Amino acid sequence: MPDAILRLALPSPLRRLFDYRAPAGLHRADLQPGMRLRVPFGRRELIGILVEVSDHSEVPADKLKPALQLLDAQSPMPAAFFKLCLWTAQYYQHSLGDTFSWALPTLLRQGEPAEARQERFWHLTEGARLDDPRLARAPRQRDALATIAQHPHGVAHQLLSHLQLNKDSLELLREKGLVSIEVRRHAASERHANWLAQPELPLNPEQRAATEAIRAGFDSFNAFLLAGVTGSGKTEVYLQLIRETLEAGKQALVLIPEINLGPQTLARFERRFNARIALLHSAVNDRERLDAWLAARDGEADIIIGTRSALFTPMKNPGLIIIDEEHDASYKQQEGLRYHARDLALVRARQENIPIVLGSATPSLESLQNAHAGRYGLLRLTQRAGGAQQPRFLRLDIKSRPLDSGISGPMQQAIGQTLAAGQQVLVFLNRRGFAPTLLCHDCGWLSECPRCDARMTVHQRSGELRCHHCGHVERQPSNCPQCGKVDLRPVGAGTERAEERLAILFPNYPVLRVDRDSTSRKDAMNQLFDTIQRGEPCILIGTQMLAKGHHFPRVTLVSILDADGGLFSADFRASERMAQLIVQVAGRAGRAEEPGRVIIQTHLADHPLLVQLTEQGYFAFAEQALSERRAAGLPPFCHLALLRAEAHKPGQAEGFLDEACTEAEHLLRELNLSGIELLGPVPAPMERRAGRYRAQLLLQANARAPLHRLLNNWLLALEKIPAGRAVRWSLDVDPIDLF
Ligand code: ADP
Ligand code: ZN
Ligand code: ZN
Repeated sequence: MPDAILRLALPSPLRRLFDYRAPAGLHRADLQPGMRLRVPFGRRELIGILVEVSDHSEVPADKLKPALQLLDAQSPMPAAFFKLCLWTAQYYQHSLGDTFSWALPTLLRQGEPAEARQERFWHLTEGARLDDPRLARAPRQRDALATIAQHPHGVAHQLLSHLQLNKDSLELLREKGLVSIEVRRHAASERHANWLAQPELPLNPEQRAATEAIRAGFDSFNAFLLAGVTGSGKTEVYLQLIRETLEAGKQALVLIPEINLGPQTLARFERRFNARIALLHSAVNDRERLDAWLAARDGEADIIIGTRSALFTPMKNPGLIIIDEEHDASYKQQEGLRYHARDLALVRARQENIPIVLGSATPSLESLQNAHAGRYGLLRLTQRAGGAQQPRFLRLDIKSRPLDSGISGPMQQAIGQTLAAGQQVLVFLNRRGFAPTLLCHDCGWLSECPRCDARMTVHQRSGELRCHHCGHVERQPSNCPQCGKVDLRPVGAGTERAEERLAILFPNYPVLRVDRDSTSRKDAMNQLFDTIQRGEPCILIGTQMLAKGHHFPRVTLVSILDADGGLFSADFRASERMAQLIVQVAGRAGRAEEPGRVIIQTHLADHPLLVQLTEQGYFAFAEQALSERRAAGLPPFCHLALLRAEAHKPGQAEGFLDEACTEAEHLLRELNLSGIELLGPVPAPMERRAGRYRAQLLLQANARAPLHRLLNNWLLALEKIPAGRAVRWSLDVDPIDLF
C-alpha cells in the first residue's frame, strides 16, 4: 500500500497546497483535516494545516519530504471553521495557507497547544459589605468593590481594564479580604439558571415588531437589515435577541467597528447578562485572544464580541450573528486577505444555518439593495427610543462667502447663539492637521510629499509637514525651499486650524478637539467625554472619530464645515460615505427637550443628493444614489475586482498589468465567458505613493459566477508571469475603494 500523502496549506502567498509524506509511525486514521503539522520548507520549518490525505502526488516520490511532527491529537478547528476558511480563500482568491494565518489566533499558528489556560475571576467574598468602614477614605477601592458586586458570577481578569477596574485597587481589596480570585472553568449550569442580570426595557412598538420578525426566523438562516435611526434602540433589540439565543442554549457573535468597542459598549452587555463574554479586538494580547477563541470554540463563552477579525471565531453552538454599524468601512480588511467581515458573516450564517442581523442608521447601498431584492428582511426603527426628535438640516451656501479658517460668518453666528443659550456645539471637519497644504505666495511652491503624488499637511503645533498617505515627516520650513522667500502660507483648514480660530472667536468657552492627533494619548478621549457629559456650553471639534460610538445629548448644533469633498470626488462611493458621516454625526446630538440643528457648509447647495439627504433623509438619499448607480452600472448593480500593482520604477507596474490583461482576454475567449469588461491598466488615482509607482486593472462584471470562473484561472496564470517578480501585486475582490 502506498504511503499516505499529506496535502498541506502552508503560510505562503502561493495558491496551492504542498505535499508531504506522513511522519513515521503515523496512521491514516489518526489524521483529520485542520490538524497542524510541522514541516521542513527549504531551510526553514513551517507549520502547515492538513487539508486532505491522498494516495498520489505530482511530486516524484524521491523529492517528497516527510512531515516532522503532528501537533494535534485532534483538529483544533471545528469543521465549520475549516469550511469557512476554504470558502474565504476561494472567493477572495487568496492562498489557503495565508487565509488560515489571518483567521487563526497567532499562538495557534506558532504551534501553541490548542488548550485553554485556566481563567481567573475576581469575586466579592462572602460577607463583604459595600459600606465597609475601611473604605471610607478610599473612593477608588469603593468604586471597584461596587463594580465587582454587580457581577454575581465574578469578573474575568481579562475584562478588568474594559470595565475600568484598577488592578492595584483590587489587590488592596484582596488584602482586606473583601474580594478574592478564583481559578475555575465556568460552571455552565450556574449561569444558565438566570441569564438576565438586569431587567429588560419594555420594547416600543417598532422595536417589538422588529424583534418578533427576527425571532420568527430564528431556526434557520435568515438575514435581516435593522435600519434604525441613531438612538432608536437597535442595541436593545440586539440584547433581547441575544437573551433568547442564550436561553436556547446557543452562542451569539456580535461584530462592532473597532472605534465603538469602548468600555461603555462592553459594560452594557456585562450589566445585562450573567454570561461569559469573550472579547476579541486589536488590543487584546495573543494569549487572551487564544483563550477567547478556545472558550468560544468549546462553548464556554456565551457571547463573543469583537471587531472585524472576530468573524473567524469558532462557536460550538452558534445561534445568532449581529453586525452592528454594518455600513462601516472598517469591516473591510485593506491588506493581505482583503475580506469583508460583513459579507463573510452572511456566508457563515448561511453555512451554519443561523440568523444574522445587520444593523445601521445608515445602511450601505449594498445591503439596502439586498433588502429590496428580498434577500434580507427590512426592519425599520424610525423614532428615537428616548423620545428625542430628529435634528433639522440646513444647507448653508458658501459660494463667494469668505471663510475664516474654514468657518463662514453665518456659521460663526449660529455657533455664538448656541453657546450663549448655554448649549454645546459639535463642529465636524474630516481633515486633521492645521492646513492641507503650505504655499509660497511668491513663487507658488507647494509642500509636496517627496514620496507621493500628494501634498503634505501642515501640523502647526508640532511645527511639521506630514504626509497622511505615507507617514513622511519634515520640519516646517521657515523659508521657501524653492525661492528662499519667507511668505509661506497655509492653504485651507484642518481641525487644528479651526480649533485655534474657534478658541479666539469664543474665548469664554472650552474648545475640545477629537481626532487621531489629539487622542493618541490613552484615555484622552474618555476625559474629553467626561467634560462633555457635564453639560456646560463648549465646542467640540473633530473628524469622523466623532461620528461613532458616543452620544452627546447636550449638543444642539452640529456644524459641518465641508460636505463638498464627498460630492466632487472621483470615487463613486464618496457621496455615500459623506451622507453616512453627516447622518451619523448629526445622530450623535440632541435629546428630547432640545432638538438639534445641523448646518452644512457647501458650494453645491443645490446638488440633488445633498438636497435629498437634508430634506427627505438618508433613505431618500439612498434611493437616489441607488438609481444613479444602477444607471451607471456600478455596484451593487455590477461586481468588481481590482488588480493592483506597484513597483519602484515607472512603467513596471503597467507592464505587468498589460500582460495580465492579455492573459485575461485569452481566458475570456478560452472559457467562453461574457459580461466581463477589463478597464485599464491605468495609473492609480494617486500614482506615486511611498516611493512606488502604482497602477491598476479593473474587472467589471454583470454577474458573479463568470467573474469568479475567470479569477480562478487567471490568478494561477498571474503567478507565473515573470514580470510579476519585480512588482508587488494583489487582487481585491469587491473593493470598496479604487485607490
Ligand atoms: P441605538 O443602538 O439604535 O443607537 P440604543 O439601543 O443605544 O440605540 O438606545 C438609545 C437609548 O434609548 C439608550 O439610552 C437606551 O437605553 C434607550 N432605549 C432603548 N430602547 C428603549 C425602550 N424600549 N424604552 C426606553 N428606552 C429605551
Ligand atoms: Zn517660493
Ligand atoms: Zn507621502
